[in-house]
Amino acid sequence: MLLNKSEFLFNRAQQFIPGGVNSPARAFKSVGGIPVFFNKAKGSIITDEDGNEYIDYVGSWGPMILGHAYPPVVKAVQDASFNSTSFGAPTEIEINMAELVQRMVPNVEKVRMVNSGTEACMSAIRVARGYTGKEKIIKFEGNYHGHGDAFLIKAGSGALTLGQPSSPGVTKGTAKDTLNADYNNLESVEKLLKENKGDVAAIILEPVAGNMGCIPPEPGFLEGLRELCNRHEAVLIFDEVMTGFRLARGGAQERFDVWADLVTFGKIIGGGLPVGAFGGKKDIMDVVAPMGPVYQAGTLSGNPLAMSAGLAQLSALENHPEYYVELEEKTEYLEKRMRLLLNEHEIDYDMHRVGSMTSIFFTSETVTNFSTANTTNQELFRIFFHEMLNRGVYLPPSPFESWFLANSLTYEMLDATLTAADEALEVAKA
Ligand code: PLP
Repeated sequence: MLLNKSEFLFNRAQQFIPGGVNSPARAFKSVGGIPVFFNKAKGSIITDEDGNEYIDYVGSWGPMILGHAYPPVVKAVQDASFNSTSFGAPTEIEINMAELVQRMVPNVEKVRMVNSGTEACMSAIRVARGYTGKEKIIKFEGNYHGHGDAFLIKAGSGALTLGQPSSPGVTKGTAKDTLNADYNNLESVEKLLKENKGDVAAIILEPVAGNMGCIPPEPGFLEGLRELCNRHEAVLIFDEVMTGFRLARGGAQERFDVWADLVTFGKIIGGGLPVGAFGGKKDIMDVVAPMGPVYQAGTLSGNPLAMSAGLAQLSALENHPEYYVELEEKTEYLEKRMRLLLNEHEIDYDMHRVGSMTSIFFTSETVTNFSTANTTNQELFRIFFHEMLNRGVYLPPSPFESWFLANSLTYEMLDATLTAADEALEVAKA
């Protein structure tokens, strides 16, 4: 596969953009090589600057659940743009969006639109703190909630109980309010709650982890967190930026029948435009300005183009429950056959799938959390990734990312992916 133009563009980009990309995950750091530059996509076929076509399993990292350039989304954006790209004043479409979100996710009694998943999670934490009057939060190692300071904190090593900033520029002062627990380990959460009795405002998590590969919650984990939050009067926040409107109309909450106090959204809710949202119980959301004292704002929040795109995509999902069934069947088809291939090639692996999220770990361990995810053979993934890319399959360029399937994938595309995987595994294991 020739990537001449991508290479040229990447060299040019690096002169003007840090690392040549506007978000680090795009830079191919974990797999090496030149990041592919794209210029168009339709459905599940994405075309690069050199004219190469790929079957897309990234879907812009999740938003494109119905495929790229989904006609109702394209039309909605076109139509809205003729009436102004922004008002900075209230519009009816924002109410339509809030009502639709509430229908699809019934415990979101009130919702505030923002411009990214990061903003949604930052705001949810502030609201939880304002509501409870407490300052600390518990998050989980290997979960990602965007680049807000409070989330860029890793667990202290060994005997250190205090978290450490995981990025320069994040202060130690911030780090002291973020506690890290072990995913799928309720005891680690109970321990932190005990050590910080009366100080924990919120527990935030990805109800299905998608940022250390795809890792499902073990039975009882989400229920246990719900119970701990009730007992300790902490706000339970589900970060459904990836899982929202993907795992079911009501996201992971509906799929697992565990209901959080606050939920954050991103990705699918914007139909590919920059949208995030946070919402939940009325009494909590009513602390948000201008109703309440917790400040939160945005010049472009509820932007008409973004709302139109999101509304078009969510409406399609609301009106076509069969899309979820089809998408799950397709993902299961891929998973089952991929497992057979991995077995045939006698490669150590663990593979998870929840709905249309899946990923492969090249390891002999059972992957349930950050430390077991880290046992994956990254070199094997690197080779597998490039062999797949060369055969026209665009996977997330990291072993620690979930694959996002779209309903625009056809069984022919899935079969082509499996043929490519068979060959790629043959090379990778050598
Ligand atoms: N939360 C989760 C679970 C995510 O996966 C992401 C991004 O991938 C975010 C939050 C941050 O969203 P954004 O990149 O829109 O700021």
